[in-house]
Amino acid sequence: MPELPEVETIRRQLEDIIVGKTIGKVTVLASKNIKLDPENLIGRRVVGLHRQAKVLLIKLDNNHSLVFHFKMTGQLIYEKDSQRVRGGHPTADWYKPLPVKATKLIIEFIDGGKLYYNDQRGFGWVEDLPNDKLAERLKNFSLIDPLSPQFTWEYLAKICRSSRRPIKLTIMNQKELGGVGNIYANDSLWLARIHPLQPSNTLSDKEIKHLHQALIQAIQEGLKYNGATISTYLDTKGKKGEYQQHFKVYSRAGQKCLRNDGGVIKVIRVGGRRTFFCPVCQKLRV
Ligand SMILES: [Zn+2]
Repeated sequence: MPELPEVETIRRQLEDIIVGKTIGKVTVLASKNIKLDPENLIGRRVVGLHRQAKVLLIKLDNNHSLVFHFKMTGQLIYEKDSQRVRGGHPTADWYKPLPVKATKLIIEFIDGGKLYYNDQRGFGWVEDLPNDKLAERLKNFSLIDPLSPQFTWEYLAKICRSSRRPIKLTIMNQKELGGVGNIYANDSLWLARIHPLQPSNTLSDKEIKHLHQALIQAIQEGLKYNGATISTYLDTKGKKGEYQQHFKVYSRAGQKCLRNDGGVIKVIRVGGRRTFFCPVCQKLRV
């Protein structure tokens, strides 16, 4: 599942390529979860690429945005001549001649470049929305994420103090804090030495400050390594995402804690998601 660093990585790379381009043709190959009228897109120019939490927005010159939510398996591939750039969920489709079976939407620019939206499992969605409807449509995706200037430790403290739920669920609640998925939630709690089940409203100011820094650090490391994806993530320039080689605790069940504190990483389920922690440096306080 593409996480915030992967979406931000493709946003930055597509921004370099498609801003200023004009759409010449739009083909919808599978209408499920694709809400747009190709006629309304033809002749429109791309004026910017934005991101809200894990949602990617291609801004157009008619005060509309093409909104992409990749969910589990959404991916974008841009192709022109022999150049191909890829982002989102990594599959063998990244390397196959396009379109593929999973292609739902093709946007062709008048200069010959083509943007393919593929989604194997089909949970992702794409919508053409007027900009004044975005706030309502995206109200469940917080504008504040760990890369936002508004993400202060005081903001984190505010959302922690209002909830007794396990801290891992609080930092993954997309309505309050955008973009923190399972990998980065696990790793930032390890960085901050906080047990994933610790009730949110029992964290001290000191722990919240540590967690605030840890969330920023984990997401920025993800960006640095061009986003994590378990096996073969490649960013739009074809470089392999390397964050998976730098997981702190995620996916390390049964291995020694990287702090060499004698702890062996355990895995539990929190909110249905696999949750990893070190029983030595992330103790549950009662
Ligand atoms: Zn440890």
